[in-house]
Amino acid sequence: MSSSIISGKELAKKTRLELKDSVTEFTSSTDITPHLTVILVGDNPASLSYIKGKQKGCKEVGISSDLIHLQEDTTEEKLLSIIEQLNNNKKVHGILVQLPLPTHIDEDQVINKISTLKDVDGFHPKNVGKMMIGQKTLLPCTPAGIIKLIKEAGEEISGKHAVIVGRSNIVGKPVAQLLLQENATVTICHSRTKDLKMMTKQADILVAAVGKANYITADMIKDGAVVIDVGVNRLENNKLCGDVEFNSAADVAKAITPVPGGVGPMTITMLLVNTLEAAKMIHNK
Ligand code: NDP
Repeated sequence: MSSSIISGKELAKKTRLELKDSVTEFTSSTDITPHLTVILVGDNPASLSYIKGKQKGCKEVGISSDLIHLQEDTTEEKLLSIIEQLNNNKKVHGILVQLPLPTHIDEDQVINKISTLKDVDGFHPKNVGKMMIGQKTLLPCTPAGIIKLIKEAGEEISGKHAVIVGRSNIVGKPVAQLLLQENATVTICHSRTKDLKMMTKQADILVAAVGKANYITADMIKDGAVVIDVGVNRLENNKLCGDVEFNSAADVAKAITPVPGGVGPMTITMLLVNTLEAAKMIHNK
């Protein structure tokens, strides 16, 4: 079987065009420009590159943004007080603290501090709880982007067996939850799963979020499966690759996302969607 490529790049382009119209409409009717503030602590090069992508995305759709770039040795207290100020700043609608944070700062404290209305990453425990019980809320960007990718590719989710490899709080667990809400039967695998291949072989929809280059090979994939590769791994030659061995997997899968150009562009796009959503929620409050 030769699979179709699910292009996140193309879907991101289309979604951003639609979003640009929605932002224009919101701004012209309310006189409010949605605004995202990103906080970076330290100089992690990968984080800097992700932030550039986020700022470029904002500009593309008419969302204003700024970056608060703090020194690596910034105290947790200082960071929390900056978040408090942003929570109270009426001109700021989305707050994103770029992770990972330096180890002397407790990530949980920081996530808990962000106003739930401005939590555009969808990581606040209250928003995670709302997602769990299907209440309307700001959804975590990568999982929400994955659902959109599968749907826009015209693939049915309801009744399908979705197998997720990875159980992180930012990808594995929330994507499992969203797939469950779409009426998939869901299996979550992780590093202690016995016989991973036996599990992945059963997947109609396989989501790989392991963080290990080319870890999922063609022999682990069911014929005709939809394969979503979340992994972003840098090889020794500096090229990016996913968690799925793309070329061989494409012979088996019905549809597959590439890396780069798959899940990544949709993650940033859903952040933009959330920022507009946050501005609307704050305005309507
Ligand atoms: P984490 O490291 O937090 O989680 C990895 C998960 O994979 C863990 O649950 C771990 O299990 C599981 N795992 C590790 N080894 C194995 C194994 N041998 N067999 C089965 N499961 C295993 O990673 P993230 O969820 O944050 O990210 C996953 C990947 O996705 C990374 O490459 C990351 O860069 C990428 N990513 C991409 C995004 C995008 O927008 N494209 C956004 C976010 C992440 P256990 O819990 O038991 O340790």
